[in-house]
Amino acid sequence: MSVNYAAGLSPYADKGVCGLPETFDGPEELKVKAETLAELIKESQYLVVHSGAGISTSAGIPDFRGPKGVWTLEQKGESPHFNITFEDARPSLTHMALLGLQRAGYLKYLISQNVDGLHVRSGFPRDLLSELHGNMFVEECEKCGRQYVREKVIGVMGLKPTGRYCEVVRSRGLRACRGKLMSTILDWEDALPDKDLNKAEDASRRADLALTLGTSLQIKPSGDLPLLTKRKGGKVAIVNLQPTKHDKHAFLRMNGYVDEVMKQVMEKLGLEIPKWEGPTICESAKVSSEAATDTKPAHADNAKGKVKKELIKEERKREAISPTNDGRVKEETIPVKRERADSPAEIPEEK
Ligand SMILES: [Zn+2]
Repeated sequence: MSVNYAAGLSPYADKGVCGLPETFDGPEELKVKAETLAELIKESQYLVVHSGAGISTSAGIPDFRGPKGVWTLEQKGESPHFNITFEDARPSLTHMALLGLQRAGYLKYLISQNVDGLHVRSGFPRDLLSELHGNMFVEECEKCGRQYVREKVIGVMGLKPTGRYCEVVRSRGLRACRGKLMSTILDWEDALPDKDLNKAEDASRRADLALTLGTSLQIKPSGDLPLLTKRKGGKVAIVNLQPTKHDKHAFLRMNGYVDEVMKQVMEKLGLEIPKWEGPTICESAKVSSEAATDTKPAHADNAKGKVKKELIKEERKREAISPTNDGRVKEETIPVKRERADSPAEIPEEK
């Protein structure tokens, strides 16, 4: 599917300020600021990152309000040029650097306005990620809330039925949920997903450092979340080429390509940027760190293969459980609990 998903949204008048000129810090200035940002990250207790379309432009996906953005061109009566599909897009250096920051323990929560699915496909733990505007690859059961991450884009937008039905099995396999699966992509007037928004707000309040990457912070409420951090006494750092709505609130303001900034920051922190080895779905940070540190001889294959296998195994287990953990489909957890007895951290208390 073409990445022109915006064409599937309903017409909407107020698309914010589009096409503002981009400005660039000089190389020396950028270097000094990158050092400052690395220091801020090192000193932080709870870093939250807010990402926008600007982190995916280097992956070939156009942004909205940049000089060649979807809405900027629309206002000129032009159409954006697409030469890649969502399925073929590869996570950018920034996506992978964020995964590295999470694994190193710095990045505690990630909030994204992007619908391109690249954070999820990069392997970023889904339980530490709020996708406030939905995900092109995810459909959700309207009955039990179970989410399905697909290999291909769903192809339907605006929270509409996708034509598929929930396969969560209830009551020891006797009956499936069969709820309608819905697109998770918001249209203009749609409310944000409760769970993702609540988690994003909690994390923003808890954060002592909010780093925004590639977003003009114009869309509400997503763009205002970094202000929660500031209100609680935290700092805001902004990386964006165009001016943003909240520049005046920034402790640090960087005008540079996010990939260049993140490359320098990771160097300063002495962290490697993980290599991408194809779409990898990680449901939980706990699983990923357990799998990554598990070196028991019984699983003596090479570490990378091991992680992938563990993830797939966990993913299958999780598929049988409610992914929403909201208790609405509690009955399904019964047969799975026994099956999960091999992972000590996950064993529920038996009475
Ligand atoms: Zn369901």
